[in-house]
Amino acid sequence: MDMLNEHFDLLDVALIRAIPLGGNQKDDSFGWHFTKTGLYTVKSGYHTARHDVVRTFAATGSGPEITPLLASVWRVRCPPNIQHFMWQVLSGCISVSANLGRRGIACDLRCVRCGTDMETINHAIFVCPPARQVWALAHVPVGPNFFPTESVYANVDHFLGQQNPGAHVAAFPWLMWFIWKARNACVFDNIIERPEDIVRVAEGEAAAWQQAQLEEDQVTYPIIPGASEIPVRVATASLPLVYSGYRCFIDGSWKAGDLYAGAGWCCTSVQTALPFLGAKNFRRSLSPLHTEVEAFVWAMRCMIGHDFREVAFYTDCSDLVKMVSSPSDWPAFSAMLYKGDRQANVSVLSTTLFHFGER
Ligand SMILES: [Zn+2]
Repeated sequence: MDMLNEHFDLLDVALIRAIPLGGNQKDDSFGWHFTKTGLYTVKSGYHTARHDVVRTFAATGSGPEITPLLASVWRVRCPPNIQHFMWQVLSGCISVSANLGRRGIACDLRCVRCGTDMETINHAIFVCPPARQVWALAHVPVGPNFFPTESVYANVDHFLGQQNPGAHVAAFPWLMWFIWKARNACVFDNIIERPEDIVRVAEGEAAAWQQAQLEEDQVTYPIIPGASEIPVRVATASLPLVYSGYRCFIDGSWKAGDLYAGAGWCCTSVQTALPFLGAKNFRRSLSPLHTEVEAFVWAMRCMIGHDFREVAFYTDCSDLVKMVSSPSDWPAFSAMLYKGDRQANVSVLSTTLFHFGER
């Protein structure tokens, strides 16, 4: 401790002391600490770059304010690759002929599909006649000076925000995406796709993705902590009165500036009248989420210590549930999720982590 104070800034000392220690023999690796998961994302890279670097492009054109619009595409409910595509559309990073021409590549600037106008991004996705047909067939309210307009920002904004006229068209990211794919099929493979087929495929993909989001809660995942042999199931909980095994409610408490963080659990079963309780504190870790993980890992150890089998864990922390569902998406926590004491863990027969309550 004195050594730390001697060599580091006080703020850094607090951070260093909060770093969780892994019990496993894993080599150090580089991490990306601008997201809470530790995984690099284009969005966080973009934000980090914008804070430190002068703006690399300036959006031109009329219509809605570009920065909030760019930010809002990451909140659209669709797969990340399509979010990224929408971001590229708004930032002008799509290889349409107009953009290639601007970079000095000698090519015909006209749109291959209609052969009349110059192919800008807005033209390819919204204005070109086959694209217009797709939007009309998908029941997007259209009209002169309304949709589609000459501004790509206004056209994307048409669908964002609860109040906007296209807000009810949940498939619009897929429509944009499949219009672009159809444009590429035309340019590169000379394949002409019919607008009604594009709408059908886009709406089908959108519906399948949305359905998958609902079912994701029901999947079984093998992990945690350390012992890959324990399957941990993740589910959204409702609490029936009759159940078998044990229910263990867990929570962590973390406050910036405090020296310690706290964890607690309360375990019930139908066989016992009074609940079992546990509480402890430990040195404050890096974030509230770290404390939730520590609380979960510690509660699992306690259940093993009590020799409780068939324990269902309940947490109000949705990030903890996501982490347990796909630990590889949360490298910042790998040291905590794979702590060593295997022989202790194998005795838990089945473990389920439920999300319950709001957060
Ligand atoms: Zn065209």
